[in-house]
Amino acid sequence: MPPWEGAAAAPSHPPLREDARAAVCIVGGGLTGLLTALLLARNGTRAVVLEQGGVGSGASGRSTGHLTTAPELGYAALERRHGPYASRLVAESQSAALELLAGLCANHGIGCDLEPVDGFVVGRDAGERELDVEAAAARRAGLIEVERLARVPGDAFGTRACLRYPRQAQVNPARLMAGLSHALERLGARLHARTRVVDVSGAGPVVVRSSSGARVLADRVVLAAPGLLEDAVRPGAARHRTYALAAPVPNRSVPRAVYWDSERPYHYVRSFVGGCAPWPGEPREYIVVGGEDQPVSRAADPEERWSRLESWMRERFPMAQLVTHRWHGEILEPADSLPMIGRDPRRPGVFVATGLSGNGMTHAAVAAMVLCDGVLGRPNPWAPLFDPSRPRSRAAALARLGLGMARRIFAMKRFREA
Ligand SMILES: Cc1cc2nc3c(=O)[nH]c(=O)nc-3n(C[C@H](O)[C@H](O)[C@H](O)COP(=O)(O)OP(=O)(O)OC[C@H]3O[C@@H](n4cnc5c(N)ncnc54)[C@H](O)[C@@H]3O)c2cc1C
Repeated sequence: MPPWEGAAAAPSHPPLREDARAAVCIVGGGLTGLLTALLLARNGTRAVVLEQGGVGSGASGRSTGHLTTAPELGYAALERRHGPYASRLVAESQSAALELLAGLCANHGIGCDLEPVDGFVVGRDAGERELDVEAAAARRAGLIEVERLARVPGDAFGTRACLRYPRQAQVNPARLMAGLSHALERLGARLHARTRVVDVSGAGPVVVRSSSGARVLADRVVLAAPGLLEDAVRPGAARHRTYALAAPVPNRSVPRAVYWDSERPYHYVRSFVGGCAPWPGEPREYIVVGGEDQPVSRAADPEERWSRLESWMRERFPMAQLVTHRWHGEILEPADSLPMIGRDPRRPGVFVATGLSGNGMTHAAVAAMVLCDGVLGRPNPWAPLFDPSRPRSRAAALARLGLGMARRIFAMKRFREA
């Protein structure tokens, strides 16, 4: 498990024992579920959150805590696949997501070591041109401060060229999840842990049934539990397993930043300061390295993957000491590289968020904004892009986004006139 496991105590939440009525029921106590509940609470709507394990026991608790505005696919490929307007919307939504997280943590006193840092995308050996193309696409998308550097600061990646993304962030995922659940309790939201949802049916109200038989009858339901969603909601999406490890390093030997590379499979790196097992109480600096993703359909070979990750780390960070933590978890990669967030195409009153891919913490914050607006019946500028029922062909998608853009310009014009 990650070195921050057990770094913060979330409040204990009782299981759902009897039927309840709610305006909104959220299934899944990961980052998407908790952030959506928090945004709803800030808008005066209390939600009931049902979680099969404990808060953050899914992917959110295993995340390595990089918060970036760069999509996994990269802006150049995103623009080729979805067009420049979609690329701008992605950059806009991801920047808003990072601002949202920083704002919520400040407003609700959530101490989670959220720290603004630079992000560095490290190119391949012969990838100089690739970096220029990516920088130009990121700037066209609105991230005008993205710049190419001749080498990565520090000694870690040798003389490799890189792109610098300013104002990225890193966070302690365990403290973030615990802080969010405390904030929700203070706002009167109800959280039930150890409550596994087995069925969602009906409309007006939607009936959410747990394995104990207790139900929540809700006007709106948000399914923020990726495993609960059938394949029909996410055609073509692929489940991947991603691996991570942590090793102590001498203090300040790894510059404070988040790094990722453009290799296939890719790698991501950051440093982390924590006083946790196996040296409780003693502040200690770690390097955290992740990647070596593989499809879940292939037989799992964690030892092989961790060993490759470790060799990769030792080549670039020779100061890393013995590996103390190893873990893995699943991410869902959507077929067209955009997450699916919005109304469930087949069930009235039900909203979903899935396919958040490797930068799923940023996407979870995007999802919370889109879902909160959807549940409250408000327009959201990014909803058409991430709509789960969006057309899969490029031409149809571009036509639909064009319509969305026209609506947006019209709405802005009316807003200015008012
Ligand atoms: C090893 C690893 C490293 C990662 N690193 C990063 C990173 O550095 N940066 C980044 O942006 N992203 C990262 N990600 C991805 C990111 O962590 C996830 O995409 C994100 O946390 C997803 O949040 P979520 O709330 O949608 O899902 P989850 O956190 O998985 O939450 C879903 C919750 O639903 C619950 N649930 C499921 N089924 C039911 C049911 N039937 N009834 C009730 N509850 C149910 C689960 O127990 C779970 O707690 C990483 C992922 C992994 C695995």
